[in-house]
Amino acid sequence: MKVLVVEDEVKMAALLRRGLTEEGLTVDLADKGEEAVAMASAADYDAVVLDVMLPGIDGFETCRRMRRDGVWAPVLMLTARGATDDRVAGLDGGADDYMVKPFAFAELQARLRALVRRGTVERPSVIEVGDLKLDPGTHQVWRGEAEIELSSKEFTLLEIFMRHAGYVLSRTQLLEQAWDYDFEHRSNVVEVYVRYLRRKVDVPFGVTSIETVRGAGYRLRKDGGR
Ligand code: CA
Repeated sequence: MKVLVVEDEVKMAALLRRGLTEEGLTVDLADKGEEAVAMASAADYDAVVLDVMLPGIDGFETCRRMRRDGVWAPVLMLTARGATDDRVAGLDGGADDYMVKPFAFAELQARLRALVRRGTVERPSVIEVGDLKLDPGTHQVWRGEAEIELSSKEFTLLEIFMRHAGYVLSRTQLLEQAWDYDFEHRSNVVEVYVRYLRRKVDVPFGVTSIETVRGAGYRLRKDGGR
């Protein structure tokens, strides 16, 4: 079993390599995200252990780029205590599991074994609504041929709309699906993010796909606005 460990802290990287090697695994090390993407594309790894805090592109972006390059090995993210925001909890960028540092090595081994047993990640299928296209695996969105850059939250919101195209979704439904409970009292957060989304997926293309349904909520038109 071959594992790629991506960690820039020398001590931590050495510790991971020693521990995993003792378990009988073959371990390659990378200390930068860009390097890890290239290595993962060139070789077949059974799993990737990926630190979030890296010089250059961070762990999230590294994971996204690996997925975009067709690397579907399971990814276990390592994050610093206190940094477990919704990007991590949502396993942003296509990661499969995460652990908060410092962690017990035995737990890392157990999680890694579980991930590898599960095997290569099933590639989620691309969702299409009209000429809007969203890839949940690589976190990419297109209108027609044009790729659209969305923030993590905008992406989540658009994915919900696209999975329910043609249906009216209330603010409460959107809040519950896209935000944590802590967010529930920020009543205008949905409006704000719908506005952000429209500015990116509709306005530049001269279309209206996300409609306001008065007194009810919002609806993504089934034809994607065209
Ligand atoms: Ca680090």
